[in-house]
Amino acid sequence: MPYVITSPCQSSRDGACVDACPVDAIHPSEDEPQFGVHPQLYIDPLSCIECGACAPACPVEAIYAHEEVPDEQREYIEINAAHYHN
Ligand code: SF4
Repeated sequence: MPYVITSPCQSSRDGACVDACPVDAIHPSEDEPQFGVHPQLYIDPLSCIECGACAPACPVEAIYAHEEVPDEQREYIEINAAHYHN
């Protein structure tokens, strides 16, 4: 199951995860036009290869493996997917 970016990203949008991801599954990056209009970054669940590189790169611990997303953040599983696939 893919990794998921949760609400702590909204205070940071650091972008270190973008650089860590080997398959370009995290958007919008700082150099993309959408960066200014979204409150956080999102992981494309269909592109994520579950390597885990993004989670330790995040300075605010916003990224979890799908099955480890805290109960109060579970809505972000759908929020990440909806960014790409609605
Ligand atoms: S787990 Fe790996 S492939 Fe998936 S978003 Fe994070 S860095 Fe990218």
